[in-house]
Amino acid sequence: MTNIAVIGSGTMGNGIAHVFAQHGHPVALIDVSEAALAKAMATIAKNLDRQVKKGSLAPEAPAEILGRITTGSDFALASNAALVVEAASENPVIKFDIFAKLDALCGPDTILASNTSSISITEIAAKTKRPAQVIGMHFMNPVPVMQLVEVIRGQDTSDACTKTVMELSTALGKTPVEVNDYPGFVSNRVLMPMINEAIFCVFEGVATPESIDTVMKLGMAHPMGPLALADFIGLDVCLAILGVMHEGLGDDKYRACPLLKRMVAAGHLGRKSGKGFYTYEK
Ligand code: NAD
Repeated sequence: MTNIAVIGSGTMGNGIAHVFAQHGHPVALIDVSEAALAKAMATIAKNLDRQVKKGSLAPEAPAEILGRITTGSDFALASNAALVVEAASENPVIKFDIFAKLDALCGPDTILASNTSSISITEIAAKTKRPAQVIGMHFMNPVPVMQLVEVIRGQDTSDACTKTVMELSTALGKTPVEVNDYPGFVSNRVLMPMINEAIFCVFEGVATPESIDTVMKLGMAHPMGPLALADFIGLDVCLAILGVMHEGLGDDKYRACPLLKRMVAAGHLGRKSGKGFYTYEK
């Protein structure tokens, strides 16, 4: 099985490591924070146990799967990987630095993928000497549960690299969808304007958050209303992604609602802060 390295062991990194290890790949999980690594391994163990309880995994499987994951802070752990999936913090400076480092460290055939939600794959690729082998592999949260992988081709991503990543994603039991590298890709390009419009409806007093979410759930068959989803994603993350699309596409239709800006300024970030469009118990 292909050696995989995952950079960043937060919300997304632990899920990505989980899914690759579950499908037989040796995984090196790398993070600058030892505490994040310990938390990630505990989360993976807890999620595997849940799968055993549900009957979707054999009782002896978790030990075997956890045994395939090596953790550490040294990037050298990624040096023998055929595919590196970067899932570090959503900060261009951090990502550019990681890709330059990986490019110097990994063999010429290694594919370097990013799980970024909004940073240009083409710009990331330009920090390496292998732009043909740099690609977006946008998993959804929670990774072990969600079916989609949005596979993003940068300006110079090769057909061969895209094919390998599409096939690897399918082998994980996921459904990959190929898209091109423009701000927001497809997922956020379509989702964020809907969330923003739902926020404008609250802002203009069209309806309460509960009413708006009920209309979208019962009327449009969405499993979750846009405002509950915004709270789940994080209102700061929604605002940042709208900012990337507003700037990158230069169209005022991506202008963030003033209410979203005000809520973020007040620290009402959704689930993670306990308060957003709804209130959550800590
Ligand atoms: P997170 O904050 O939970 O985790 C990020 C991790 O990266 C942290 O553990 C941090 O210690 C680590 N890190 C920071 N700098 C690093 C470095 N230089 N080297 C190694 N590790 C480093 O973030 P997350 O929510 O898991 O998001 C990770 C990426 O996935 C982001 O690009 C984000 O846009 C994308 N994403 C997030 C979601 C989501 O719902 N959370 C969904 C899709 C994509």
